[in-house]
Amino acid sequence: LGVVKGYMGFTGVMGHEFVGRVLHGPADWKARRVVCEINCVCGRCERCTSGLSNHCPNRTVIGIDGHPGCFAEQIAVPVRNLHAVPDPVPDEQAVFVEPLAAAIQITRQVDIGRADRVVVLGAGRLGQLVARVLKHSTDDLLLVGRHEMKLQAAEKQGIRTAGSEQFSPNRDADVVVDATGSAEGFATAMQAVRPRGTIVLKSTVALGTEINLAPLVVDEITVVGSRCGPFPDALGMLAAGEVDPAALISRVMPLSGGPAVLDQARDPENLKVLVDVRR
Ligand SMILES: [Zn+2]
Repeated sequence: LGVVKGYMGFTGVMGHEFVGRVLHGPADWKARRVVCEINCVCGRCERCTSGLSNHCPNRTVIGIDGHPGCFAEQIAVPVRNLHAVPDPVPDEQAVFVEPLAAAIQITRQVDIGRADRVVVLGAGRLGQLVARVLKHSTDDLLLVGRHEMKLQAAEKQGIRTAGSEQFSPNRDADVVVDATGSAEGFATAMQAVRPRGTIVLKSTVALGTEINLAPLVVDEITVVGSRCGPFPDALGMLAAGEVDPAALISRVMPLSGGPAVLDQARDPENLKVLVDVRR
């Protein structure tokens, strides 16, 4: 939806979260069920050779920047981007590996202890996954969202929730994750985080609004930008049954649904809308 609004100025086939089967390629990959990292990198530059390949300046990004996406019957991708999906993990879960890895990335960037108070702002697709991952790290987790239905989906997973109206930020959270995709989210995060606490920015919205950054200085807040994460860890969590994102699927539509698929994804009543390219 961000790409439709003009994120990265992308034109072409959209879509970057998918599970598929290898049709053509090296013999050891043939017919295997796979998920695919979205950053297509050069493998030669300083960042690639120093372990920061997700930040390769020469990269294209599947369905987002310079590389055709997965809303298609077939897609060509670099072999090194592939990860085999373990047999017990069904397609309905494997398709979540990319955003799940992005959620796990938070735990790779920020040290979260069991006693830490963690607030996740935004109960949409990404916020739901972030909360499902972070509940394994802390005993004090709160997910804040606007839609009752989305909060209930999280409650069913044993996640404590609050409606945005009921939530009163109190500058007492050790870590606040902003997954709202809105400028207000960051403002709320600044009110919710304790002095010397950490704000994790998880949504790549271009902030058009003016924001007063003084509280970051006065309260010595650490702000962490967080994007793509480790696929093997996400596949591991799914295989171990530690997260079950399939409950987030609101509906499955055929690729021929075209723009109607996007309309459904835009509907706040729907969490995740899947596209079945076989239909
Ligand atoms: Zn590179």
